[in-house]
Amino acid sequence: MVVGVVGGGQLGRMLGLAGIPLGHSFVFLDPDPACPASAVGPVVQGAYDDPAALLRLAERVDVATFEFENVPAAAVEALAARVPTAPGARSLAVSQDRIAEKEFFRACGIRVQPCEAVNSEAELAAACGRVGTPAVLKTRRFGYDGKGQAVVRSPLDLPDAWRAVGGAPCIYEAFVDFECEVSAGGVRARDGDRRGGTGGRNEHRGGILRRAVVPAPGVDAAIAAEAQRAAGAVAEALGHVGVLAVEFFVTADGLVANEMAPRVHNSAHWSIDGAVTSQFANHVRAVCDEPLGSTDLLGPSAMVNLVGSMPDRAALLAVPGARLHDYAKAPRPGRKIGHVNVCAPDERVRDAQLRVLEDLVERAAGAGARPR
Ligand code: AMP
Repeated sequence: MVVGVVGGGQLGRMLGLAGIPLGHSFVFLDPDPACPASAVGPVVQGAYDDPAALLRLAERVDVATFEFENVPAAAVEALAARVPTAPGARSLAVSQDRIAEKEFFRACGIRVQPCEAVNSEAELAAACGRVGTPAVLKTRRFGYDGKGQAVVRSPLDLPDAWRAVGGAPCIYEAFVDFECEVSAGGVRARDGDRRGGTGGRNEHRGGILRRAVVPAPGVDAAIAAEAQRAAGAVAEALGHVGVLAVEFFVTADGLVANEMAPRVHNSAHWSIDGAVTSQFANHVRAVCDEPLGSTDLLGPSAMVNLVGSMPDRAALLAVPGARLHDYAKAPRPGRKIGHVNVCAPDERVRDAQLRVLEDLVERAAGAGARPR
């Protein structure tokens, strides 16, 4: 099949890299003809919401999908009217808006932190009075990797926080005192078949995911199973087709859902090397209406993100068991330019490999961005 992907970033690139061995080919829609996915398929150049560009994409493909959730509903409808498209508009609409997302979690019986919608500075003060501090002010839409967020430690921080988010419609949410962060996800087919992935423990810095480790170390099996059940309930309630990931905080009182991604997700990039079928291959299978693959773990695994600067490549490649995934993006502070996976025979070996990799990543961060 020819698969159309709206977006040609690293997620599109990895969807293509997973789908080509299955005999599929890929066409991407992206404003940048030299986007990361251009290495694996032709690029229709255009904005994601340009009706003419979407039409040009639709004419060339059998099915379509998205590599990010901030796609206008009209664009989804335009594509879906011409080719089978997954995920559906509902999955995208719910996850585009942090308030809708939290309400959806609640409706699925999943706990979320106290939060309120905020549309003005006066509403912000009122929300702060009810929800309290510390808290995080986040734009309702278009936030990613910690962008569009401000921490509110005391009411004195409110004017700065409001300025930091540019006065956009926001969510004011209580800061969660978490023990750790985990994600759970899986893939759902058009016929409702679902395979849960192995949940990982995630570590963020500056709002950006730095590493994911599976199975989640130090996380009770019952908590991991509950996260998996909750992610399954969300996918089912949305009638979602494709991969969907939910991020949770683990607290002393149990799980609190933070957000979801109706697409392949950074916290499961380890699955390329650590699972029988990667999240990317399974997403392609679901979109193409083909049977899903086993999500079983091949061994204890981990992923380290390469953010802002590329470590010494030779040193990275020399780490036993390390598998480099370089997105061929120019380094820039805060930008994800690749990741490294390990999949080890046991947790001790995995953790030793992880330490070496993180040391290299730290050194690169200290040295600043290196020319590629
Ligand atoms: P998000 O964009 O919502 O995924 O936030 C990025 C990261 O910031 C999360 O993974 C957490 O590490 C941190 N964070 C966001 N919201 C909160 C919160 N309400 N309480 C504590 N930490 C948060």
